[in-house]
Amino acid sequence: MTDILKIKDLTKHYVQKSAFFKKETGRANVLNGVDLTIIENEISGLIGESGCGKSTIAKLIMMLEESSSGTISFRGEDINSVSGRGKKNYYKNVQMIFQDPYSSLNPRMKVKNIIGEMIRINGGSKRDALLKTKEMLCETGLEESAMDKYPHEFSGGQRQRIAIARALVVRPKLLIADEPVSALDLALQYKIIDLLLTLKAKYKFSILYISHDLNSVAKFCDNVSVMYLGKIMEKASADKLLKEGKHPYLKALIESIPIKDPLHRTDKRSVIKGEIPGPHNIPVGCPFHPRCPERMAVCDQEIPVLKGIEGDHAVSCHLF
Ligand code: SF4
Repeated sequence: MTDILKIKDLTKHYVQKSAFFKKETGRANVLNGVDLTIIENEISGLIGESGCGKSTIAKLIMMLEESSSGTISFRGEDINSVSGRGKKNYYKNVQMIFQDPYSSLNPRMKVKNIIGEMIRINGGSKRDALLKTKEMLCETGLEESAMDKYPHEFSGGQRQRIAIARALVVRPKLLIADEPVSALDLALQYKIIDLLLTLKAKYKFSILYISHDLNSVAKFCDNVSVMYLGKIMEKASADKLLKEGKHPYLKALIESIPIKDPLHRTDKRSVIKGEIPGPHNIPVGCPFHPRCPERMAVCDQEIPVLKGIEGDHAVSCHLF
């Protein structure tokens, strides 16, 4: 197994300053030492409640923002140390699709230009751009007639297909998918996920799949990392995580998955109490301790580290 992307001890802090003397008035600690590895040709899931920092990781991978500390390496090279041609190659090899495809597609551009410009930016001819756009539209289940239309002429699901076509037309090695189906209805969600799986099998790329829906992540991904307040709480293969999840936060997430069969419903399901604290107010010790039903004396004193417990299974909790 070869790593395609490795994140090491990544932090992101936003400092608030007063208008007059530019004095620090507050600090939002959004990422607090994240380690994450994406394996070539695998789907890695990243799950957590909103505000846990998962979309910030996507922005840092896409170099839309700068990290405060830590490294992100693509194929062994720190992305912040590459420049010129290396940076251009990185932007070609790492593509992203967003939750809201409408805001990520230029409303004034026709579909053929939205997709074709990716080929042109990377040195392809006009003819090449046209041919590859047609091919990609067909691969994503859209008609050739879509070429001359604008984004507003399509449904939400079709717009996400256009966004996928635009991302994959340059044959990236890694696709960052930030909640790509959460704005769609359930039937469409599975169609888009199937489409991504088909295209991944054909074009061989890795996916970082970011979501708040544990159920879909576990079905779709090879391995999953669970995030809480800017830290990874547990990671393992998707199967192991669902069957043998250890962290009290993950156990509560698993128990909150709706059960269809009323005969299997029980009253013993634990619900996570309270709200996730803001990044300005990270609890001392284990960040989950104010909401944890299993907390001990040590939990509000010491930050637990992410420890391997078996194979690729690691947990950040003083219980293990
Ligand atoms: Fe709960 Fe303590 Fe484990 Fe944190 S370290 S999850 S507070 S038991």
